[in-house]
Amino acid sequence: MPEPEMQILHGLGVSAGVAIGRAMVIETRGPAIPRIHLPEEELDAEVERLRQGAQLAREELQRTRARAGEDLGNELAAIFDAHVLLLSDPGFLGRVEGRIRSQQVNAEWAVHKTAEELDNLFAHMDDAYLRERSEDLTDVSRHLLRSLQGMPHHEMPELQENVVIVADDLTPSDLIRLGRQRVIGLAIESGGRTSHTTIIARSLNLPLVSGLAGVTGLITEQAPIVVDGETGQVILHPTVEVLDRYLERRAEIRQRDRSLMETRDLGAVTRDGVEILLMANIDLPEEVHEVGCYGAAGIGLYRSEFLYLEKSPHLPTEDEHEAIYRQMIEAAAPHPAIIRTYDLGGRKLAREVMDTREENPVLGLRGIRLTLARRDVFRTQIRALYRAAVHGDLWVMLPLVSRLEEVRAFRQFAADCMAELEAEGVPFRRDIRLGIMIEVPAAAVIADLLAREVDFFSIGTNDLIQYSLAVDRNNEHVADLYQPLHPAILRMLRFVIGAAKDAGIEISLCGEMASDPRFALLLVGLGLRRLSVSPRAIPQVKTWIRERSSGELTELALRCLQHATAADVERHLESVFAMNDAREPVASDTESL
Ligand code: PEP
Ligand code: MG
Repeated sequence: MPEPEMQILHGLGVSAGVAIGRAMVIETRGPAIPRIHLPEEELDAEVERLRQGAQLAREELQRTRARAGEDLGNELAAIFDAHVLLLSDPGFLGRVEGRIRSQQVNAEWAVHKTAEELDNLFAHMDDAYLRERSEDLTDVSRHLLRSLQGMPHHEMPELQENVVIVADDLTPSDLIRLGRQRVIGLAIESGGRTSHTTIIARSLNLPLVSGLAGVTGLITEQAPIVVDGETGQVILHPTVEVLDRYLERRAEIRQRDRSLMETRDLGAVTRDGVEILLMANIDLPEEVHEVGCYGAAGIGLYRSEFLYLEKSPHLPTEDEHEAIYRQMIEAAAPHPAIIRTYDLGGRKLAREVMDTREENPVLGLRGIRLTLARRDVFRTQIRALYRAAVHGDLWVMLPLVSRLEEVRAFRQFAADCMAELEAEGVPFRRDIRLGIMIEVPAAAVIADLLAREVDFFSIGTNDLIQYSLAVDRNNEHVADLYQPLHPAILRMLRFVIGAAKDAGIEISLCGEMASDPRFALLLVGLGLRRLSVSPRAIPQVKTWIRERSSGELTELALRCLQHATAADVERHLESVFAMNDAREPVASDTESL
């Protein structure tokens, strides 16, 4: 058979680095499920097919369980036990069988409809245990459908070697689960620069190219593949020469990263002595050591919702929360650790606390709205935050605030939690700083009013851009419209920074925008003195800051604010920074191949 031809695909390079390996293809979207009417005489055979499908799915799950036990420990592996049990449960399978017979339909349709019906039933129950069952059901029915449709399961197969995941879509929790195993890179159809899956890929230090329409159909299992997370190129079936070139490039990148690290103990100080605090965005507790490694000035954002996603289907206990927050405080010292209360919702789903199925979850019950709506669940976190604060400088930050009332309601909620702690004689700290994310346009526009009520702001450009420009941060079809340099965004930033300064409160920015050194300099020019970025971005941003004076950057920001389009601002930045660009794209090399 002739060797397959090399193919070069172009996507969005969203998490840096080069991965060279073999592909593992994962399809999570799955085909639509047709409803097929069956004649009476075929129903017995269809029920038999269902039973065989269930048996296959059980065997697959048991294998996964055994592997998960080795990799993740028995506590997490026990989730799969629950799934195996459900697949044997006559309450579930019996209903499916009943539906096949009574409605004379195919097994797939009967599974899909039964799971939907039970899921709705469980998801609205008050009992947390039963709500958990609803998520189990979703997983189990997915397995069963895959068996029935003869599709491969996308649980982790035995990995003999490092793999590059090629997927249609991956949720942040899929990636947390997969990425800790022998995964070295990712090529995904969906996604954008600031999707949470991208953010987790950066946390796990995995090169990722997204926005690769149809890639799962172009590559076969185990085929050789190169992912260049910087240029956005993905090479399928690379030739020996190209492979050699990428091996070299990977070594160069590693060398470059090592030399950037030499700035670790230097301050992020402009030439004229203005100090910029570069803080770390932390998503997973295991990343906390990077605060010290990359010389971060504390933690500017801990996304505590990922703790929840990792523990799912169990809720983290108060002591578990407290232990993690203590770790954050210790790693951040002598600087603050800013812990954001759960920002669940949107694509960061966790059915244990989300008991609604939302048509449009990104505009739904998420962030502070969910915290206030489910105080029974979030009480645990709030108590833990105030308890942990006795150990150091912990600041609490609220996500997705859009109204003053939310801040006031939270203060009351926190006061109630503190009153409980006091009554129980549990030590806690009362005077911790309370701040908010500015990530909803409404909050940006009333920043002057909000600034009177809180101790600090942190601008979340990931969502601020999404909501202001009406561009889904996770949608590859509109990725080019997701423009951090849009004049509307720059004006909002200027206004929010001014409002914080006028009120004399702290302000920082923790969206991904600040991880791009060009944008970081613009943000300094707009007046920010604290930026929170993914730890690995710190050395490069710091290097760029040290090469400029604050006056130059103020001038730059003023010029940028005069431009009418994002493209003009971008061109302006490019022309000013052309000499600085430390990134060395190889696009031109491979383009000419
Ligand atoms: C943001 O929206 O900019 C942000 C930092 O929060 P997240 O990315 O978690 O939505
Ligand atoms: Mg956000």
